[in-house]
Amino acid sequence: MTELSPALKQATPVLAARGEGVYLFDEDDRRFLDFTAGIGVTSTGHCHPRVVEAAQQQVATLIHGQYTTVMHRRLLELTERLGEVLPTGLDRLFYVNSGSEAVEAAVRLARHATGRQNVIAFSGGFHGRTMGAAALTSSGTKVRAGIGPMMPGVAFAPFPETYRHGTGEDEEVARALAEFDRLLVTESAPKDTAAIIVEPVLGEGGYVPSPASFLAGLRRRADEHGILLIVDEVQTGVGRTGRFWGHDHAGITPDVLITAKGLASGFPLSAIAAGEELMSRAWPGSQGGTYGGNAVAAAAAIATLDVVRDEGLVHNAAEQGQRLAEGLRKVAADHPVIGDVRGLGLMLGNEFTTAQGQPDAATAARAHAAAAEEGLLLLTCGPHGNVVRMIPPLVVTAEQVDDAVARWQTAVARAVAS
Ligand code: PMP
Repeated sequence: MTELSPALKQATPVLAARGEGVYLFDEDDRRFLDFTAGIGVTSTGHCHPRVVEAAQQQVATLIHGQYTTVMHRRLLELTERLGEVLPTGLDRLFYVNSGSEAVEAAVRLARHATGRQNVIAFSGGFHGRTMGAAALTSSGTKVRAGIGPMMPGVAFAPFPETYRHGTGEDEEVARALAEFDRLLVTESAPKDTAAIIVEPVLGEGGYVPSPASFLAGLRRRADEHGILLIVDEVQTGVGRTGRFWGHDHAGITPDVLITAKGLASGFPLSAIAAGEELMSRAWPGSQGGTYGGNAVAAAAAIATLDVVRDEGLVHNAAEQGQRLAEGLRKVAADHPVIGDVRGLGLMLGNEFTTAQGQPDAATAARAHAAAAEEGLLLLTCGPHGNVVRMIPPLVVTAEQVDDAVARWQTAVARAVAS
């Protein structure tokens, strides 16, 4: 019998048969509240009727028009639609399929545009599993272990983590920026540094929001030294954090923006956006890919952006995110093993910590498994796997949030008791 590789680790025992909104159903028709959303992908919920219809129509019309061979209308439309939501000045786009590919394309663009080689990434950052993206990733060891030598020209600076270091935000940001400045002297001189790549909220690294003053500090340093600021909005984009882009919370404008996941509600699609002058410095023919900007994925993305606008999903993410955070904080107040609840919008993490202040991955794993048994699908993250994260579709309602919190309360109580 041929089987799936054991290298694919499945977080829950669910065999998904169908999805509807915030719910997944298994083959026995058992219903689960899906607070994983395919790792932040099914932004409009599972099988939103408008996304389904757009994709079905496109499948029947043109499935694939390879964009370096022929252009197709959906991609032009999507580009215009993204223009309505992208930061001013980031008005040139191209498309690939996944977050990792987009990250690598952004690095390629940055190296071409600046003639410099180095990229500064952050401790706890996650940018993907392909070889170039893995070289920029430091969260967890599994992504990099045993696959070296890695792509050279990457330096890691510390990310401000107030909970982990027990510091105040101002102090933590000052420390991280001072370390960043030191790195520009010791490891990656500005004349060699093409780009800084940063997540507005550390995703796989534990759902740690980037303080506004930190992103502003990076923006200033990038301007001062002619370094490009790439924001990786793969997980934080398209309303997830309660603003359209995660970096909107900081009031900065990046030079390059990468987005994927929630963009097409589950179809593989990622976009790289930059200004015209910057994009014109990419060497001709250097970017692209056979499936990039696929017509069905583009049609689904247009429908996704329509639904996000028409159903007020960015506002809903902010509102329900706040409700969810309040509910989770109440659970944490009852269970001191949850040392921190944090995040932005509908991207929230519960960090499990022992009484001695050590990461408690064992209790986190039990709570995660108990939640699945209680009908609530969740994921873990963080460098020690001790953060249980919640990232539901942006269509989640107040009733569903309350339902999830009640199930979570039960799951945590079970995990603590066992
Ligand atoms: N960047 C970020 C911030 C991510 O969260 C991820 C995926 N978790 C990636 C890049 C990689 O995306 P993909 O898995 O689509 O390659």
